[in-house]
Amino acid sequence: MTGGGAVRLVSLTKSFGDVVAVDGIDLDLPAGEFCSLLGASGCGKTTTLRMIAGFEKPDAGQILLDGHDVAMDAPHVRPVNTVFQSYALFPLMTVWENVAFGLGYQKVSKEETRRRVGEALELAQMQDYAKRRPAQLSGGQQQRVALARALVLNPKVLLLDEPLGALDAQLRKHLQLQLRALQKDLGITFVYVTHDQEEALTMSDRIAVIADGKVEQVGAPEDIYASPATTYVASFLGSANIFDADVSDHSAGLATCSALGRTMHAVCRDATLRGAAAIVIRPERITVAAPEVPVPAGHNCVEGTVSSVVYLGAASQVRVEVAPGSTLVAQVANHDGPRSVSAQPGSRVTCTFDPDAVQVLRQSSATTAPELDIQLA
Ligand code: ATP
Repeated sequence: MTGGGAVRLVSLTKSFGDVVAVDGIDLDLPAGEFCSLLGASGCGKTTTLRMIAGFEKPDAGQILLDGHDVAMDAPHVRPVNTVFQSYALFPLMTVWENVAFGLGYQKVSKEETRRRVGEALELAQMQDYAKRRPAQLSGGQQQRVALARALVLNPKVLLLDEPLGALDAQLRKHLQLQLRALQKDLGITFVYVTHDQEEALTMSDRIAVIADGKVEQVGAPEDIYASPATTYVASFLGSANIFDADVSDHSAGLATCSALGRTMHAVCRDATLRGAAAIVIRPERITVAAPEVPVPAGHNCVEGTVSSVVYLGAASQVRVEVAPGSTLVAQVANHDGPRSVSAQPGSRVTCTFDPDAVQVLRQSSATTAPELDIQLA
């Protein structure tokens, strides 16, 4: 195998008629990294991937592979292969023939074909199924064959378009870990399209969050989760409570703002930001306590009435109405078993959170809506 290639997209643009699918994407994907393109349906992920593969021609911009612009090169001369969600296997060929197919176009000897197909099937853990046809395989096995078929060509960059999208949740989780381990072993650059934030968080070295054909933020999963740049990113990666805020001052690294009718202190990366903004609070950073419990010094606090408690196994989701029409969602770990949350619907409670659990962000202008797993006020 060849190791990874560096991918650099410069002002990449593509429209279909009136629809601007990709609107000037700039992205640096270092060699050997697992990079995910994450974003809502229709935000331009697949079109970006298809341009890297060579299946779509950009209207403008560059696609640099190890510094060489391949934007106008035919797909088969790029050191890139693609794995699709639909597998796209040849139904009448055996697994072995499917994997060997691409080598037929290269001047590869019989001996080398045998060795490379054997190697690729082993990497995909499909060596015992070489004589079967696709219809005799499960979805997960077919996807492994598709992976072997892409790997056999020794790509420097592997493009994967929702490759696990058609599989059930358990198999999907299993294959996520295997795919990640394989990528680390081979050192091939993976560009992975998904709209599943958990998948992107689990697998990636780097995530590019895409909205309306543009990169909204790029970074390591933990950085994007902990320090989202915009409300769109915050709501796309993990669950988030997002409220309007009005910033009045900054001091000692914290912003003072008014939100939910109270004064709050929060982290803000832009010390010049004043006036209308938003605050984001992660549910797992909120403590729900009885009103008589003292608020820890320096913490923000909001009182409210519990509207529901939903048991989720490892944690419970507690929804607290903190102002008419505004609900704060807290995720409380069930450290003491199923009865860890004593509050019941109707209970008055105080929600407290450290200033470093609250981020002041500029409002995102993105129009493609993230699919939130909790609906917030
Ligand atoms: P999904 O997660 O639903 O696959 P995506 O982020 O991959 O979405 P794209 O498939 O890149 O989004 O599509 C971006 C936009 O471009 C969408 O509005 C889509 O309808 C449009 N589009 C994509 N391909 C074509 C095409 N061949 N002709 C016309 N419009 C297209």
